[in-house]
Amino acid sequence: MRARNQPFYNGRAMKRVWLLLTAMGCVCWAQPPINWTQQKTEILKHYRELIQIDTRAGNETKAVDYIRRLLEAEGIPAQTFALDPARANLVARLKGSGTKRPLLILAHTDVVGVQPEKWPVDPFSASLKDGYVWGRGSLDDKPVLTADLIVMLLLKRNQIRLDRDVIFLAESGEEADTAGVGINFMVQQHYDAIDAEYSLTEGGNAIIEDGRVFSVNIGTAEKVPARVRLVATGTSGHGSVPRMDNALIHLGAAVEKAGRWRTPMRLDDTTRTYFEKLATISTPEKAARYNALLNPATADAAQRYLAQHEPGAYSMLRTSVVPTMLKAGVGANVIPSEAEATLDIRALPDENIQNFYTEMAKVIDDPQVKIEPLPMTRPFSPASRLDSEMYRVLEQTSKRIYPGATVLPSMSTGASDKAQLRAKGQQSYGIGPAGTRDDITNYGAHSDVERLAEPSIYTFVEFVWGAVTGVAAAR
Ligand SMILES: [Zn+2]
Repeated sequence: MRARNQPFYNGRAMKRVWLLLTAMGCVCWAQPPINWTQQKTEILKHYRELIQIDTRAGNETKAVDYIRRLLEAEGIPAQTFALDPARANLVARLKGSGTKRPLLILAHTDVVGVQPEKWPVDPFSASLKDGYVWGRGSLDDKPVLTADLIVMLLLKRNQIRLDRDVIFLAESGEEADTAGVGINFMVQQHYDAIDAEYSLTEGGNAIIEDGRVFSVNIGTAEKVPARVRLVATGTSGHGSVPRMDNALIHLGAAVEKAGRWRTPMRLDDTTRTYFEKLATISTPEKAARYNALLNPATADAAQRYLAQHEPGAYSMLRTSVVPTMLKAGVGANVIPSEAEATLDIRALPDENIQNFYTEMAKVIDDPQVKIEPLPMTRPFSPASRLDSEMYRVLEQTSKRIYPGATVLPSMSTGASDKAQLRAKGQQSYGIGPAGTRDDITNYGAHSDVERLAEPSIYTFVEFVWGAVTGVAAAR
């Protein structure tokens, strides 16, 4: 085991491990040794150029054209699928022997908007400054896009024999897709092009502490948006005459009850393993709290603490209810006959949502208030397995690339395109490059300013290569 203060990237050590395994006759991990030091130039070039292509919604085809040119130049055929010509999706496939079902590696090409005045550099310059690459998309999602592209090129160049097809999907409209141009279009109309046993995409990360990667988060599950409107009705009338059936009073009480409702806590494979393993790398005080969650006798106090101090962890334990919008009234002297609130409900992957709404109606306990479910934006999707070949390979690759790191399966409280793939039966996993907590908090996805430490892009590409060849290369 290496000392804590050693750098987290060490290509020579990797090569030694490979040589050792090969010498031992261990075919399980024997991969051709890529010279990752030499590979840096090409990785940085494509990563920066992909950031420099401004792919705010409606411009995704520009990135697709760039990627297609590179793939075709090396003899990898690419197909595009476009509902909107400016927002194309690209699919490229390297054929395997068919012994195993395909692996899909995907990344979205679009990025969110920018406020240029908040940036120290041009947000589409991919500037190199202070050891970072700065730019919109430098985290979300161009590292995964770059890694997928490079892995395809390297698989082809090195003529890696595959047990399963490797399919690369560069998809549009992940951030903003009211027209359904991206994953919905691909899943609904071209699923045969991306049908796979496993998929790898954004939705994980690795945390750097004291100069080394301390933990690797693999996204294995996510909550499902299942929002509702609460509609309170009452008698309308003059503001000078109080009425006990005032819709606003009833709505206010209902919002308070729903918002303060401590919904039932439930652990699944992902969250149980997450808190168990998190405890092993936390301070004694935090560890005691995470362990307390696993014991019904002590879970209550631990949950109360998390509700106050770690709301993200609290949310992973339950279907959550968060009031987000209110709408009522037309004048200061008018009692409205109707008032409504929106609740952003995020359901656990295995929630029975109709039963949940019934329970919520009992909590609100007011015949004047109706619960109206809003249209679902994502399908319910089961968590991906922790005992699959893909997850095992991700764990082994994490430990190889980031020696000493703890691997945590994680449940995202947000939603992603993995939902649509899981709903089709894929075991879909979220991965991502390494950053410090400061980077992730202050320069993360969708932040005013986005950046990634330059060494992290190299290590991440190597990680994706390890994961892809680990699960797809011929044994
Ligand atoms: Zn993203």
